[in-house]
Amino acid sequence: MTPTATQLVIEIAYLVATALFILSLKWLSAPSTARRGVRAGEIGMVLAIGGTLLRHGIVEYQWILIALVLGSVIGIPLGLVKMTAVPQRTALSHACGALCVTLVGTAEFYLRSPNVPRFMMAVLCLEVILGSLTFTGSLMATGKLQEILPQRPITYRGQNLVNLSLLAISMVLAVVLVFHPGHKSLFPLIVFIPLVFGVMMIVPIGGADMPTVISLLNSYAGLSAAAMGFVLDSKLLIIAGALDGSSGFILSVIMSKAMNRSFSNVLFGAFGQVQTTAASAQEAQPVHSATAEEAAGILASANTVVIVPGYGMAVAQAQHKVRELFDVLTKKGIDVKFGIHPVAGRMPGHMNVLLAEADIPYDRLLDMDSINPDFPQTDVVLIIGANDVTNPAARTDHASPIYGMPILDVDKARTVMVIKRSMNPGFAGIDNPLYYEDKTLMLFGDARGFVGDIVRELTGGSGH
Ligand code: NAP
Repeated sequence: MTPTATQLVIEIAYLVATALFILSLKWLSAPSTARRGVRAGEIGMVLAIGGTLLRHGIVEYQWILIALVLGSVIGIPLGLVKMTAVPQRTALSHACGALCVTLVGTAEFYLRSPNVPRFMMAVLCLEVILGSLTFTGSLMATGKLQEILPQRPITYRGQNLVNLSLLAISMVLAVVLVFHPGHKSLFPLIVFIPLVFGVMMIVPIGGADMPTVISLLNSYAGLSAAAMGFVLDSKLLIIAGALDGSSGFILSVIMSKAMNRSFSNVLFGAFGQVQTTAASAQEAQPVHSATAEEAAGILASANTVVIVPGYGMAVAQAQHKVRELFDVLTKKGIDVKFGIHPVAGRMPGHMNVLLAEADIPYDRLLDMDSINPDFPQTDVVLIIGANDVTNPAARTDHASPIYGMPILDVDKARTVMVIKRSMNPGFAGIDNPLYYEDKTLMLFGDARGFVGDIVRELTGGSGH
């Protein structure tokens, strides 16, 4: 191929890759198109890598080949982890991306210094600062989620001041470098200080808040990649980084809103420290409990049923049993829908992915805003391992830590049945007044076992 023809092929590959990245994000936003979204992203990435490998700037392929083999050897097993480990796996990917961005930025600085124009130096500094803090921050997040590091928030006096000072010092050094790019001795500091900041930033954040923090780190990784795009003069990187940066940020905002938390509360609030005490202080109140046989009878006589899954369904891996229950009830002519809260479970889309894995039809999964108006006309709500996302205290109790959090209005249905193992609280560590209402029946047991028992009762003991 002539150089101009090669250039044309590269440009087309990049253009198609860009379009595929945008479409991928669009398709990923609905369960019915999510698989297509993943494929589009994968093909886009292959085109982006392929196009880059054709570039004439590359003089030797052997190191690239070694890196490609090494990356695949690490990447393939990472892609096969269990679904409950996806948050930490994602954090680890961010760490790798951020390390790469930092190394490229460092190399570019030493190649170009002292002849670095101001704008270029500013984006280089941004790239390296964000890359470094995302690298160590993501490693810390992985450690907390994998429980290699203590999950509880670790706090000390003046912590926020120390952290913000570290960030401020990095910024000041960056400004000095922008005006004096020949000060090579300062550069290691704008790598090292954000590396320390990344660790310190995660220390006060509880393990359960990590999914929100990970999507924020995702955003930082994207922004640093976009900055790298300016440094390397790659429009594709700028676009991909900007998409990554903005989508990560939007996701963090959605998650914070759905948990009724502000960003600063997630980052500086040390949430998770006082949670369990609130519940244990509660006085024991009577609840109505029922057996699988009774629950099956109630379900069989309903016309409309809404199933509300939560973290407990994920822990129990009950999704396939839930699918059996859905089939049995649907065969009986009962209208069965699923009410999905945006932060049910422990990661974005957790419930959607589990229910999709069990092949529950997508049109039966309704998000909170769509299902809430249906509850007053619903005969039975069956809650499977969900707690906080159904807690009416979020609407009524001004003193509750989740006051203001939008919830699924399950208490408006005629009958509510809750499968959980005990009266223990969920993530927020608070009692749920729903359990003491007359219309609520507690079905104590493991989600998978209990749903299986209900299915057996409904099918006359034969299972499904
Ligand atoms: P939740 O409030 O944490 O409650 C889960 C319930 O499941 C617990 O009360 C637990 O009670 C029960 N459970 C656990 N294992 C079970 C099993 N094997 N069988 C049956 N039940 C079991 O969960 P949620 O209602 O899904 O709410 C999610 C919470 O996580 C929200 O507070 C949200 O803000 C937070 N969060 C979500 C995300 C996200 O991205 N989705 C991220 C960070 C934080 P027992 O122990 O009595 O069984």
